[in-house]
Amino acid sequence: MKVVVNQGNCIGCGACESICPEIFQINDEGLSTVIGSEEDFNNHEEEIRDALDSCPTGAISEDAPVAEETVEPVVEENTEE
Ligand code: SF4
Repeated sequence: MKVVVNQGNCIGCGACESICPEIFQINDEGLSTVIGSEEDFNNHEEEIRDALDSCPTGAISEDAPVAEETVEPVVEENTEE
């Protein structure tokens, strides 16, 4: 599981950092930044979910693979008999 922080929505409350400091860190501007390696993400999945659920502004979201956003379903129009 990987997450991203939309800093435009972050109010710098620090909840995510206190729940999982291995992944979230409040930067110099007072906004949450995602830190940590792939291994950290795998090792702290539960805390990451807690942080995601605890964020008061919904600034944290799961980082969806790009392919999922760009693939559109193919609709075949074949109504002729
Ligand atoms: S919990 Fe949400 S609003 Fe609070 S610092 Fe983290 S990302 Fe920002």
